[in-house]
Amino acid sequence: MEVSAGLNPKRSEFTLAAVSELSSSPVSSSSTPVISRFSADRGVAELRFCQDSKFIDGFDVNLGTSQLFKLGPVQSLCISESSDSNKEKLYSRGVMIQFRNEEESRDFHSAFEQWQNEDVTQVTDLPNGTTSTVRSKFDNKIEPSSAKMYFHYYGQLLHQQNMLQDYVRTGTYYAAVIENRVDFTGRVVVDVGAGSGILSLFAAQAGAKHVYAVEASEMAEYARKLIAGNPTLGQRITVIKGKVEEVELPEKADILISEPMGTLLVNERMLESYIIARDRFLVPKGKMFPSIGRIHMAPFSDEYLFVEIANKALFWQQPNYYGVDLTPLYGSAFQGYFSQPVVDAFDPRLLVSPPMCHVIDFNEVKEEDLYEIDIPLKFIASVGTRVHGLACWFDVLFNGSSVQRWLTTAPGAPTTHWYQIRCVLSQPIYVMAGQEITGRLHMVAHNAQSYTIYLTLSAKMWGPGAEQGVILQTSSCKLDLKEPYYRMSQPQPYTMAQDQQPHQLLQTQEIPIHTVDLEEPELLQQPLENSGAQLQ
Ligand code: SAH
Repeated sequence: MEVSAGLNPKRSEFTLAAVSELSSSPVSSSSTPVISRFSADRGVAELRFCQDSKFIDGFDVNLGTSQLFKLGPVQSLCISESSDSNKEKLYSRGVMIQFRNEEESRDFHSAFEQWQNEDVTQVTDLPNGTTSTVRSKFDNKIEPSSAKMYFHYYGQLLHQQNMLQDYVRTGTYYAAVIENRVDFTGRVVVDVGAGSGILSLFAAQAGAKHVYAVEASEMAEYARKLIAGNPTLGQRITVIKGKVEEVELPEKADILISEPMGTLLVNERMLESYIIARDRFLVPKGKMFPSIGRIHMAPFSDEYLFVEIANKALFWQQPNYYGVDLTPLYGSAFQGYFSQPVVDAFDPRLLVSPPMCHVIDFNEVKEEDLYEIDIPLKFIASVGTRVHGLACWFDVLFNGSSVQRWLTTAPGAPTTHWYQIRCVLSQPIYVMAGQEITGRLHMVAHNAQSYTIYLTLSAKMWGPGAEQGVILQTSSCKLDLKEPYYRMSQPQPYTMAQDQQPHQLLQTQEIPIHTVDLEEPELLQQPLENSGAQLQ
């Protein structure tokens, strides 16, 4: 079942002397008056005309695409853009408006202007009949073109299938829900970003009294179909098409379930929607599945990866490409490749120190806290090597009343569709075993549903002079989390036994790592197949 739209928007009305389409006879007010009505009934600011309590067909004016011209003291012309019924052809239309007096004409003009500027991006039709005309938090911070592409992506079954076929992910959610029936039985559940509706169906299997499955993309239609095809569960599920920032629910939820995690946990900025859903829908002290997310970080050494990225820019070193010197763009191309976070599954033995973690408590965090995430970094190198950047992954906790379960994306754990992410420095830093590596991971959210990442790593001098804390090397880079380099076409170097934890593996990493002199990026060579200690 889908919650249907109600009606009761903000509107303002004016009585007119007459109204007519250009070149047609006027609809006059001689018998019954013509009322012009400004409204946002259908999600856009518009002007409609009615007579005898009925809207006059074909006179609707979209205020977003209209202009009002004063032709005389009591006569104005409204030109608007319209499309034919197939929405294919655009044409202009004129509506001639006759006022009863000058004052009413003036008031009408100022109302027209106000309604044109009115923020009606979100006209929420509430089941109880109330409506809001404020812009939603989502619209305020996300570029419409980004949102359009985002929801288009999730509206396709193939992408939902990709997530469903991540059995680590979906299996962990299933286990976490079913093992914690006690948290679902007889409870009201909201599925935040329901996609195909799979988590709603799990919650219903665990005995939920009712599940509200909120999904903004066209996938909501498929979710309805899937849920209707599972009627014993489906009768306790309501699909609501819309953004969690905008829809209204008829009751509060005892528990939220959601899968809002992107690469590096925060990519896609859906965690913010999860938090907004908490504030809007969850009863005080209600449960969140998951309730905690942790970003784990450790410096890594990966000569292969570094050389591969640096070599990508070598194309631009050609002085004679069909007679054109490409070298002016070499520097930009080099920087460009290093601004892409690398997404792949790597061998945890590439880590140079035990990881540290940054905890985000979904029960407590404020939505605005996620706009900027600033993490001071401090590690002790376990080996002497060249550090090529920072490796990151995340996990989330289902803090069930019966069983606590973590969903992890750690290197060495069973691979998920998130893999891991590595921020690669264009200037590696040299460290010795026992040396402190400090730095900062500063992530700033942007309006394309992702983050700009500013990474700095520094290594203090080791040995004489270290007590003064002199920093010898610092390397920084700026990356766009929205533009990752999916390195999945590369052969996977390593498959780890599933029960081993990354920090256990660090103890086995004291293998000399092959290095080449990389001062001149243009001289980079791919290391020989057997020369990298990181490959087995
Ligand atoms: N819960 C599903 C889908 C997870 S993917 C599963 O676990 O398989 C995240 C889903 O959330 C996508 O389908 C996306 O369209 C939806 N979504 C993202 N932001 C949203 C928002 N603000 N409001 C409603 N749905 C949203």
